[in-house]
Formats: sequence, structure tokens, C-alpha cells
Amino acid sequence: MSLAEILGRIRAAERQAGRPEGSVKLIAVSKVQPLDRVEAVLAEGHRVFGENYVQEAAAKWPALRERFGLVELHMIGPLQTNKAKAAVELFDAIHTLDRPSLAEKLARLAEARGACPALFLQVNTGEEPQKGGILPAAVDGFIAECRSLGLVLGGLMCIPPEGEDPAPHFADLAGMAERNGLSGLSMGMSADFETAIALGATHVRVGSAIFGARAYGPR
Ligand SMILES: *Cc1c(COP(=O)(O)O)cnc(C)c1O
Repeated sequence: MSLAEILGRIRAAERQAGRPEGSVKLIAVSKVQPLDRVEAVLAEGHRVFGENYVQEAAAKWPALRERFGLVELHMIGPLQTNKAKAAVELFDAIHTLDRPSLAEKLARLAEARGACPALFLQVNTGEEPQKGGILPAAVDGFIAECRSLGLVLGGLMCIPPEGEDPAPHFADLAGMAERNGLSGLSMGMSADFETAIALGATHVRVGSAIFGARAYGPR
């Protein structure tokens, strides 16, 4: 599907939900895609991308930013604490803040740099053992902990379990954000972004629907 078609579907979903046009940001997820596909989407004018791996992003994006100008980069994959410094230097947003040790590291980096990427807390709404994210019962406490470290939080992020109806997970995430005064909701991927928009997503992360199937499995 083309970038224009995806953008058209996002705008239609906004309208259907009675939400203002442009209230949903499309993050084009370019992990492990061939460079020519990424360049084609840049050439069409898109400037917001998501990556899962710090090393892959660091190898790819500085040169692309030189050629194409300002690009907003979102880190959407699990972030190891020892890669946090490289991540804050490269990314405009991190969607996978999911544990106290990473929050402490990001707070120290923010203080040293006088700047911090936008931060989303990842919530493991399906309570899946193999998946990253704060458990739902611990979310309010972790948000308070992050705030006491001086971190400014932009919102919450989730990846619903495969093969399940994502709608209850999106609704749960929206409820957690609302009761904690957070406006950002990073939810919805190729298969379910319209459902996510109906339930309040502000950021959708769409990969294969824009770029085609990935050569190897990322998750
Ligand atoms: C890969 C990935 C996406 C994009 O998935 P598609 O199904 O290709 O749209 C979105 N979010 C996260 C966290 C991912 O790892």
C-alpha cells in the first residue's frame, strides 16, 4: 500500500472518530527495510520514522538526515540501558521506557544534556512474560517514580498480544493515560491502526503496510 493510501485511511479514521484532522501522527516503521524503500518514502515527503534497533538506526539515519533534512526519529524497540546514551543523541522520542533502571539513566542523561527526547512508557497490557513493558498494576507507581526523577512524560505505548482483539488493550491504555494526565497514546500498527485511532491513538506505528513485508522477523 502506498504512503498516500495509509495517510488517507488515517485521515478517514480521524474523521470517523470525530477527531481533528492531523491529530494522529504516522510513524513509518523502517526497521530492516531495504534502503531504497526508505528513500522512496522520504522522497514522497514523509519525515517521521520509527526504528527498533539503535545500531541499525545509527548506521542509517545520520546520512539520510544529511540528504533529506530534518527527520523526526522514534525509538520503538526494547532499549538496553547501555545504549541509552546513543539513543538520546539520535532519537526525538523513545516509546519503550519500561523499567526504573532505564528511567534513572534517562534522567541522568537529560540533566547532563539539558534536553530529553519525548518519552512514552511501554505498558505490557497483555501481561505477556516475553514482552517488555510495565505491568498494568504498576503503571501509576512507575509514572510517579519517573516524574519524581524529573522526567517529563509524553504518553503511553502498548503492543497488544498477537492473535487477540486489540481493542480492549487500546481502551485500557487510554484509561491509564487519562487517569495519569497523559495525552500521548502510541498504539496501532499495520493491522489495527484504525481501531487504535477510534480509541484515541495520537501516534500509530505502521511498517509493513507502507514498506511491504520485512525480510526477517523483528518481534
Ligand atoms: C515492527 C513494529 C511495528 C510495525 O509493525 P507492522 O505490523 O509492520 O506495522 C510497530 N510497533 C513496534 C513496536 C514494532 O516493533
